[in-house]
Amino acid sequence: MPPFVIPVFIHHQGCPHRCVFCDQTRITGAAGTGRTVDAEDVRLEIERHLIRPRRFRWPVQVAFYGGSFTGLDIDLQLKLLSAVKPFIDKGEVDQIRLSTRPDYIGPDTASFLFDHGVRIVELGVQSMEPEVLAASGRGHSPDQTEAAFGYLKSGGLEVGAQLMVGLPGETTSGLIKGAYRIAGLKPDLVRIYPTVVLKGSGLARLYEDGRYRPPSLHKALALTARLKGIFDRYQIRVIRMGLQATETLEQSIVAGPYHPAFGELVLSRILFKKVRAVLSCLPAEGRGTISIAEADQSIFRGRKNMNVKRLVDLGLAARAEIIFDNNQPRNTVVVR
Ligand code: SF4
Repeated sequence: MPPFVIPVFIHHQGCPHRCVFCDQTRITGAAGTGRTVDAEDVRLEIERHLIRPRRFRWPVQVAFYGGSFTGLDIDLQLKLLSAVKPFIDKGEVDQIRLSTRPDYIGPDTASFLFDHGVRIVELGVQSMEPEVLAASGRGHSPDQTEAAFGYLKSGGLEVGAQLMVGLPGETTSGLIKGAYRIAGLKPDLVRIYPTVVLKGSGLARLYEDGRYRPPSLHKALALTARLKGIFDRYQIRVIRMGLQATETLEQSIVAGPYHPAFGELVLSRILFKKVRAVLSCLPAEGRGTISIAEADQSIFRGRKNMNVKRLVDLGLAARAEIIFDNNQPRNTVVVR
């Protein structure tokens, strides 16, 4: 059963970094409270969300998102984590997850977090290309990401990697090599975000000056599909592709490959390519049968039945009847 996640947004005030894709004013307060979250906020947020999992007995995670948790003052980290402890002691919360930067993880970080109920840490890796990290103003290196993975994994924590496609200076070969390097670090989960240009960000200035062009939606989907394929091969879960669609985000976007159903479009592309490959191997004159999981039917068909129309246009649709099977595992294509 997937956990019930209680999100607590720690608006990272005074972040010393200047990542080009980040709209600091939105993150640090203008859209939030303008002040750092405190222990009472955490308690109230948990109480507010607990009604549903109490009734349905879901596993519950408290997730500190929206900033670099381990970059906060250590006393504040302690206060926020301690605010969750009474709920863990009562069995109402199972574990804590948080997101942070790779360079804010040191040799002692994992034991501190583990002792205070944290079980999952998501790292803002973004890229494994040094030039891309530099051009994006990230202020950390791929080696620091590797070191952070080592510290967290040896401390018994699950590690997530957050990656971006379309950052300035990115090359397709560098992106793919970076994905293999990340896969070699064995993350427990991955999120892939397309780079979009947000109002007020450094990227918006570069874009307006003509010094940055975001990838098209088509290219971002193709790159994300390739990364997903790599992580699938290593049996690494990709738990999100695309940005969480919110009104605030949509109002802030100046340019870039944003789509509210980005992840679904990626999955649709991947399934289409699998089906196309299978049909291409069947005799043109034959009429075989291939099956797809019933649960994948709408993803396979795509928006407005687009994938089916493409198979017709390619002259492949007549090679087999496509059926949908309730008992078939998802993301598989079987020739019958
Ligand atoms: S994305 Fe970069 S600039 Fe924005 S809050 Fe995180 S570390 Fe700071």
